[in-house]
Amino acid sequence: MSPASRLVFLGPPASGKGTQGRRLADDRGLSYLSTGALLRRALRDDSDLGKQARPFLDRGEYVPDEIMVPMVLEWVKAQDGGWLLDGFPRTVPQAEALDAALPEGEQPQAIVLHVPDEELHRRVTSRLECSLCHRVAKKEEKDICPACGGELEPRADDSVENFGSRLAEYRKLVVPTITYYCDQWRARIVNGLGSPDEVYARLS
Ligand code: AMP
Repeated sequence: MSPASRLVFLGPPASGKGTQGRRLADDRGLSYLSTGALLRRALRDDSDLGKQARPFLDRGEYVPDEIMVPMVLEWVKAQDGGWLLDGFPRTVPQAEALDAALPEGEQPQAIVLHVPDEELHRRVTSRLECSLCHRVAKKEEKDICPACGGELEPRADDSVENFGSRLAEYRKLVVPTITYYCDQWRARIVNGLGSPDEVYARLS
């Protein structure tokens, strides 16, 4: 399997990881996992994972590596073909654990979406998410998901205060993770400004 068949998507909140990652995964026939969507579903279902993760998501903090790493590695190991992870890894220990779990030479490539803070803030206050398939939509669109007919609603963690903490977590934890990939020449930084189609054209 080529390294392009194992991708991790990194970027600040509202940089478009979900929209772009899902589309790229669909086009390349890769399995797709959004750890954020998985956690929000667990919260909604009030599962054991949801109960563990809720205090962190409510404060806009990252869920501890001890919870995230085994969960994602289990998913990765269950995949027969290529995959794309949206929102994982978010810390250097997560990136190291993912590399260590894969056979030599099969470590993933990273795609990093870069978007300035003012634009992130604008996006976070104007987006909705489908309660069923977790696709993102703009607030002015109808309240039904165009892809699956599910109900569109604001994300529980998209408040303005929460956004500040998530951006701070991003700077503290994800930026060193990006450096980890850059140091090994495994990262591609992509300009995330513009329409979804414009950004996708730069990616693919
Ligand atoms: P996202 O949908 O990717 O923006 O993720 C939403 C929230 O889920 C984040 O702000 C974190 O609280 C949590 N989360 C998602 N992925 C991870 C991860 N890899 N490590 C820790 N927390 C995560």
